[in-house]
Amino acid sequence: MSTTWPPWTSPLAPNLKRGHILAPFTTLKIGGPAEWYFAAETADQLVLAITTARAAGVPVTLLGDGSNVLISDLGIKGLVVHNRACQIERRGDHLYSESGALLSDLVNRSRHEGLTGLEFASGIYGTVGGAVFGNAGAYGRAMSDILSAAEVLTDEGERRSVAPSEFEFAYRLSASGRKRWVILSSEVALQSGSRDAIGAEIDRIIAIRATKLPADLPSAGSYFMNIEDPKAEHGKIPAGQLLEAIGSKSMRVGGAGVYERHANVIVNLGGATAADVLALARQMADAVRERYGIELRSEVRFLGEPLDWQSVRRV
Ligand SMILES: Cc1cc2nc3c(=O)[nH]c(=O)nc-3n(C[C@H](O)[C@H](O)[C@H](O)COP(=O)(O)OP(=O)(O)OC[C@H]3O[C@@H](n4cnc5c(N)ncnc54)[C@H](O)[C@@H]3O)c2cc1C
Repeated sequence: MSTTWPPWTSPLAPNLKRGHILAPFTTLKIGGPAEWYFAAETADQLVLAITTARAAGVPVTLLGDGSNVLISDLGIKGLVVHNRACQIERRGDHLYSESGALLSDLVNRSRHEGLTGLEFASGIYGTVGGAVFGNAGAYGRAMSDILSAAEVLTDEGERRSVAPSEFEFAYRLSASGRKRWVILSSEVALQSGSRDAIGAEIDRIIAIRATKLPADLPSAGSYFMNIEDPKAEHGKIPAGQLLEAIGSKSMRVGGAGVYERHANVIVNLGGATAADVLALARQMADAVRERYGIELRSEVRFLGEPLDWQSVRRV
């Protein structure tokens, strides 16, 4: 690492922590230490932390709400920036937010303001930045349908407004990863509607989700992506359907198991390690490949130091 790191003379210094354990910041409650950890409370702090680290040659990992990641038991080298920049503002029929705002807070704000169009995102965990990054969605709608503007920090350190088309959205994917963009803020385009109708739809979706997803057990939602197939209903074969058929619900490795009510959700039953989750996911994917010749792709992103997980316990 460069001698300009850590930046003790910078305004970042008081909040820079060494060896901070990341498990509590993930919905799976798994993950080792960040070599360096900084919680950014504003978009400006986010930019300062990332540009300072990059200038010193320190690798940077951005963490939103940790709801779509599996963090290595060995932790993450370099600086982990935890995005807590959460301002939300109404701009006409649009809602602007900093990227660390929770999607659930944006949904609640749309209900409060009587703005319709965001109901599909009810109950989806994570930050707005994470949702744009992974084009989060449900019920046939996704962030790409409503995003109207965004500001990013480019790999070259430039703060730039980008058009939605520049994200090249696809199913649970945007070009932000490939372009190494950090999403700083965004705007979604909504329409004015009846507050009661919007509220009723949000409550309806949350109630449905509560019957399918574990509220009491740590998870990262669906582990594998659905399989795109133009011949299938809605253009996709649900990964959960294939996993149900191969009996994934009875699979378990160490503290990681498959949720009893959803064959595509891995839960932390207590004391699970990232190695347990990876080994379980591999068993699930192997079984689907053997039966159907289909290669499942992980929706959950692995972050941090590689693990020798193939040699871990198999129960
Ligand atoms: C119970 C449960 C249910 C879920 N249901 C759904 C669902 O229905 N639909 C769905 O799409 N997802 C679902 N998810 C997954 C998750 O909620 C989404 O993927 C969410 O958008 C992730 O946001 P996050 O802030 O937690 O991102 P994180 O998990 O913190 O990060 C995910 C990736 O995004 C990157 N990232 C985060 N913020 C930014 C940023 N500002 N700029 C650039 N990169 C960034 C990170 O570096 C990382 O690579 C569910 C998760 C859970 C736990």
